[in-house]
Amino acid sequence: MNGLTIRVENKTYQNTGTCTLKDIQLDVTPGEFVAIVGPSGAGKSTLLNMVAGLDKDFEGEITVDNAPLHVTQPLKQIGFMFQESRLMPWLTVLDNLLLVLGKEQEDKARELLRQVHLTDIENHFPGQLSGGMQRRVALARAFSVEPDLLLMDEPFMSLDAPTAEYLRGLLMDLWSETKPMVLFVTHYLREALALADRIVFLSESPAHVVLDMPVNLERPRSVEDVDVNKLHADLLHLNPHLLSGLVNGKQWNKASMTEAAS
Ligand code: ADP
Repeated sequence: MNGLTIRVENKTYQNTGTCTLKDIQLDVTPGEFVAIVGPSGAGKSTLLNMVAGLDKDFEGEITVDNAPLHVTQPLKQIGFMFQESRLMPWLTVLDNLLLVLGKEQEDKARELLRQVHLTDIENHFPGQLSGGMQRRVALARAFSVEPDLLLMDEPFMSLDAPTAEYLRGLLMDLWSETKPMVLFVTHYLREALALADRIVFLSESPAHVVLDMPVNLERPRSVEDVDVNKLHADLLHLNPHLLSGLVNGKQWNKASMTEAAS
């Protein structure tokens, strides 16, 4: 498998007539973890919805090995995780997983709950769990389908820092076992640096790619690592407006930014 190719010439919401994405070309190789970073309203969720097949109203194509993703379905499974855990509140934790896995897969569901350290609470309902625990169930559910591609839209938002760090560790453990391709949307640069093989920075809407950069830091990483701090500082020094999706004419130098990252 050669991986995923996203080519968006234009995405305009018909109801408002506003062009949201413009000339985006993004390739993801098998096993690659790609973070998409950009300012709020840039079009990150729009892009993810398009890759998920939830929004087909755009000019361009999304393919795997030249096969259109949502026509020929070349991938076995796509997994999702969103900002909210989106668990079924009337089902227990175990039943939330079995809803996706099928009733006969109890052993697999229990193994996933063990991997996210939730064995003791399989009979609890989502409403009885903390936000962090709910996210752990959602993470287990996202991996339960053994995805070839995992789409994550700010999945650790609004968690306290230690809980988010713990979840990032669980994500890395699960990801490194089966290595699905990941598109991980965040506006938190340190998180992207701590997780990803590559970071794609988007501009303000209409979004285009302002920088596509490898992250060659050793794993495991944490948002507080010295290396992560240094790269974070270097990137923002080279372009103080990077996170606003703006290109600072004077200091902007793609080559030096890519060099800083390697
Ligand atoms: P991000 O995830 O980067 O914060 P979004 O993809 O949610 O950005 O939104 C990008 C732009 O598209 C925003 O200007 C937003 O208002 C607009 N947008 C999002 N969804 C819709 C919609 N259903 N109809 C019209 N405009 C939308």
